[in-house]
Amino acid sequence: MSKWVYSFGGGRAEGRADMKNLLGGKGANLAEMANLGIPVPPGFTIPTEVCTYYYANGNAYPAELTEQVTEALVRVEEIMDAKFGDAANPLLVSVRSGARASMPGMMDTILNLGLNDVSVEGLAKRSGDARFAYDSYRRFIQMYSDVVLGVEHHHFEDILEEAKSDRDITLDTELTADDWKKVVGKYKDKVLAELGTPFPQDVHDQLWGAVGAVFGSWMNQRAITYRRLHDIPEIWGTAVNVQAMVFGNMGDDCCTGVCFTRDPSNGDNDFYGEFLVNAQGEDVVAGIRTPQQLTKHGRELQHSDLPSMEEVMPEVFRELNAIRHKLEAHYKDMQDMEFTVQQKRLWMLQTRTGKRTTNAALKIAVDMAREGLITRKEAIGRIDPAALDQLLHPTLDPKAARDLLARGLPASPGAASGKVVFSAEDAEIWVKDKKEQVILVRIETSPEDIGGMHVSEGILTTRGGMTSHAAVVARGMGTPCVAGCGEIRVDYAAKTLKVAGRVVREGEIITIDGGTGEVFAGAVPTIQPELTGDFATLMEWVDTIRTLKVRANAETPVDAATARKFGAEGIGLCRTEHMFFDPERILVVREMILAETEKGRRAALAKLLPFQRQDFVDLFNIMQGLPVTIRLLDPPLHEFLPHTDAEIAEVAQAAGVEASVVAARNASLHESNPMLGHRGCRLGITYPEIYEMQARAIFEAAVQVSRETGRTVTPEIMIPLVGAKKELDLMKAAIDKVAGEVFAEASYQLKYMVGTMIELPRAALLAGQIAESAEFFSFGTNDLTQTTFGMSRDDSGPFLEVYRAKGIYEHDPFAQLDQQGVGELVKIASERGRAARPGLKLGICGEHGGDPSSIAFCQSVGLDYVSCSPYRVPIARLAAAQAALGDSKGSGMH
Ligand code: ADP
Ligand code: MG
Ligand code: MG
Repeated sequence: MSKWVYSFGGGRAEGRADMKNLLGGKGANLAEMANLGIPVPPGFTIPTEVCTYYYANGNAYPAELTEQVTEALVRVEEIMDAKFGDAANPLLVSVRSGARASMPGMMDTILNLGLNDVSVEGLAKRSGDARFAYDSYRRFIQMYSDVVLGVEHHHFEDILEEAKSDRDITLDTELTADDWKKVVGKYKDKVLAELGTPFPQDVHDQLWGAVGAVFGSWMNQRAITYRRLHDIPEIWGTAVNVQAMVFGNMGDDCCTGVCFTRDPSNGDNDFYGEFLVNAQGEDVVAGIRTPQQLTKHGRELQHSDLPSMEEVMPEVFRELNAIRHKLEAHYKDMQDMEFTVQQKRLWMLQTRTGKRTTNAALKIAVDMAREGLITRKEAIGRIDPAALDQLLHPTLDPKAARDLLARGLPASPGAASGKVVFSAEDAEIWVKDKKEQVILVRIETSPEDIGGMHVSEGILTTRGGMTSHAAVVARGMGTPCVAGCGEIRVDYAAKTLKVAGRVVREGEIITIDGGTGEVFAGAVPTIQPELTGDFATLMEWVDTIRTLKVRANAETPVDAATARKFGAEGIGLCRTEHMFFDPERILVVREMILAETEKGRRAALAKLLPFQRQDFVDLFNIMQGLPVTIRLLDPPLHEFLPHTDAEIAEVAQAAGVEASVVAARNASLHESNPMLGHRGCRLGITYPEIYEMQARAIFEAAVQVSRETGRTVTPEIMIPLVGAKKELDLMKAAIDKVAGEVFAEASYQLKYMVGTMIELPRAALLAGQIAESAEFFSFGTNDLTQTTFGMSRDDSGPFLEVYRAKGIYEHDPFAQLDQQGVGELVKIASERGRAARPGLKLGICGEHGGDPSSIAFCQSVGLDYVSCSPYRVPIARLAAAQAALGDSKGSGMH
């Protein structure tokens, strides 16, 4: 015979905490508490298997269930010394849902079940309190009718209001036993009128009605939506807990409350909680009265006039505090508990791992490791890497006033204020010339906006999703960004944005919160992140565990310095083209691209050389001998081309040629598919002088810094978009030649490496050949994803949504590495590369380098390092440690 019911109470239980899959979180923990000898009202759990059975069998129960429920109920009756449905001494129960994962609001709990017209009299006599009995009865009718019978709440609220206004009173507590009796009569009439059948008087009908409602609630819309949002599988099902009632509403020596073993807002090891005297469970949540603090300390902190439990019920408080310590020591984590005190007797009704802020999570993990409650490794496993993001950026001062304008997508965390500008050029002018702080507002952004994006405090777009250009670039820069804020209308010509009847003009101040997606009018003060204390301690522990190195993608001195501050162990990707968008340089770059001859190009490149050399000097200085991987020019040339006639004229003048010549050349460079066009090392192959200039800048800078500081500088030069060994061979030969020249001129020798990006499927497949020439590989998984899927990151947003909704791809492959496809190519390339060149250094750059689940994959493939945007470095360090410990699922850990 199958077991369909698990009893608990009276100092023992059939379940255990590790049976959550079967008993749900609530049921498993009630059982565990009972086994620990903690006072828990007796009851039983109908497991999730019954839910599964129910849906697999046309809403029917297993045959043995009724009998097993009856037996379990008898056990509860014995412990409570009362009988279910008894006229003189009735046992009342609550019926509570409880899935594996907490699903708030899935189904409302039903309290006081077992009351009817007869047993309510028994309860009145035995408690000596008719008012309490009829109050409990009306609560029951109200909840049961709403949750099980589908009679809406407001009917009952109307009746209650009427009863109060008839008596000319405002508080429920002022109603007498007779008042409640009348209310009960009216409630029952209402049910009869609404349903055509009377409120069920048979207590077993009541019980099965409630059990059915819990199982039914598993498939209600609220629950389905919640599961979809939180990735909870439908097949898990819910359990049902039936538990003897204890009463916090039997008088002034009764109460009910919620508490945490530590403060969930800051993690302090203080007992924290609230309670309400003479109240029943749902009253605390409903917020009808102001709750009292548990501890004297808490009362003082809150400046509350109401006495604390510690002061008014010292014995109960001591008992609760002892249970707090017992449960925390047992579960080895901060607990969130529900309790009720019935006539000075304490009962525990629930315990679970408590939710906490990221700051509290850090403090609790570090403290618990220091207290010896958990190991350092466990402490590391307790922190969700993604949640660290909150701590690494300025946030809005919680005390500050705000004036919300609109809400968009939280595309890049951090909060920032500034004057509104509507173009990237204006952003640069305002910042550089007027020394203003700006928020760049665009319908959407494109690569030529990089310069303006870089100088802006924040970026706001009205179109585009979480992987739009603005979002990706902003995250890379650590710049706050709200994307896709569709409520806002931008008028570039008028230089205004309009939202909800309000107009914001260029130069007016707004504040954006890239962590929430909110946009505010005016300046909202922000607070700077603290990277010391528990954060620093945990990161130290993390670094002793992880084996993957963490580098950063950075090209500007500011980014490099940030990366160092966050613990980067080098630069994994320095995108040299980002150095060319500066207004001083873009003209020279255009001159170079638009030159008709090699001679013309060389002339322009000679002008760029000192700029580029200085970039590397700065970078090498900041990185103090740490490895720096520099990628030679990569993007499609059109990103640099002039757009307007004025820009063309400017280039023509600088180059000393006719504007028409420049215009013609400009037109001839047009490509219909630039992402697959003349870019990457194809530029180096066709115009070797570009890469030669860059190599010269790198070597001259390396020699200079090495000489000046006495530190070794080991540049790693990376060739992009290689698909054939021959490409790399040609580029490497050119670089080696420049190196020889520079070293000879300077009479100085340096080690350097030449390697390649692996970002084309062909390169991954031919990695064995390529590794004969490449001294390292860096997986450029952004492009590798684009080229493997054959879809553009910039254009895939709209249809990817549909793809995910239809379950074709589970995740956005640009945010989370596609382990099946792209990951397979990474694996193949790693194996073939290392077979050809043992010890070949392998890394990953691109968005995935900062994504915890992708980092776990990198660990499993045996990469040497991941490289991510500076602001994600701590996240990557933590994720790498979790990957090394083998307990990373990428997220979902608390
Ligand atoms: P939720 O999952 O929404 O928290 P619960 O099942 O925990 O729902 O119950 C809601 C409220 O009812 C809680 O405050 C709980 O303490 C109270 N409650 C549940 N069962 C009982 C009981 N047997 N006796 C007294 N109060 C109860
Ligand atoms: Mg609860
Ligand atoms: Mg690329």
